[in-house]
Amino acid sequence: MPTIISYVIDNQPQYGLLIDGVIHAWTGDPFTSDNFTPGPAIGTPDHVQLCPPVQPSKIVCIGRNYAAHAAEHQAEVPGEPMIFFKPPSALIAPGEPIEIPSGIGRVDHEAELAVIIKRPARRVSAQDALSYVLGYTCANDVSARVLQQKDDQWGRAKGFDTFCPLGPWITTGLDPRDVQVIGRVNGDIRQQDRTSNMVFDVPTLIAFISGIMTLLPGDVILTGTPAGVSELFDGDAVDIEIEGIGILRNPVCVIQ
Ligand code: MG
Repeated sequence: MPTIISYVIDNQPQYGLLIDGVIHAWTGDPFTSDNFTPGPAIGTPDHVQLCPPVQPSKIVCIGRNYAAHAAEHQAEVPGEPMIFFKPPSALIAPGEPIEIPSGIGRVDHEAELAVIIKRPARRVSAQDALSYVLGYTCANDVSARVLQQKDDQWGRAKGFDTFCPLGPWITTGLDPRDVQVIGRVNGDIRQQDRTSNMVFDVPTLIAFISGIMTLLPGDVILTGTPAGVSELFDGDAVDIEIEGIGILRNPVCVIQ
């Protein structure tokens, strides 16, 4: 199954295919193509400028989807999925800095499995849900914790520019039921759990969300974070690593 990567060449975002660690040009469209014939080799991901892998109409996020994370915030596990949004303007690519405005208080990393939607999904069943998925990537649901606790709605706390690192690429054919999710800061593991410990699994989330709003090609679902979230500081490097996908790494900087 192909790995789809988005990169910039001549100031234009392009889709390519990642094969044995090398990006190959590709003329297909991930939302309509079934032809994954690779073109010429472009280089390795370290030597090109990557983009966020999609430009979604919306980023739907799930709160408190791992019981141990709900417990660390003295919060109940919800009886139904709890959804909120991040704006697409919050997206950044692998390697781009997470910019924390000074004075907003504690800001945390949240390591999450991200689901990328392939085709319009409206009121789909859990049984059919995975057929609407293009693939999976790593996300960091960067969260201004003080503002989150202060506000009833989380639009501010979750919505700052750069607060949604996404990537490094889209892995297709992944079975999302039981993969390891790790959050690491400066090499230290802070979060480590498995998606099998989600309160609501991926098919249940797609069925629930698509029962409310149509999910469009390229839309992203952030599936919630395990326990162990911790504060980010200027100069940190934060990694989100998901088994079977790869590592999303972003530096942190405080801006005035
Ligand atoms: Mg989260």
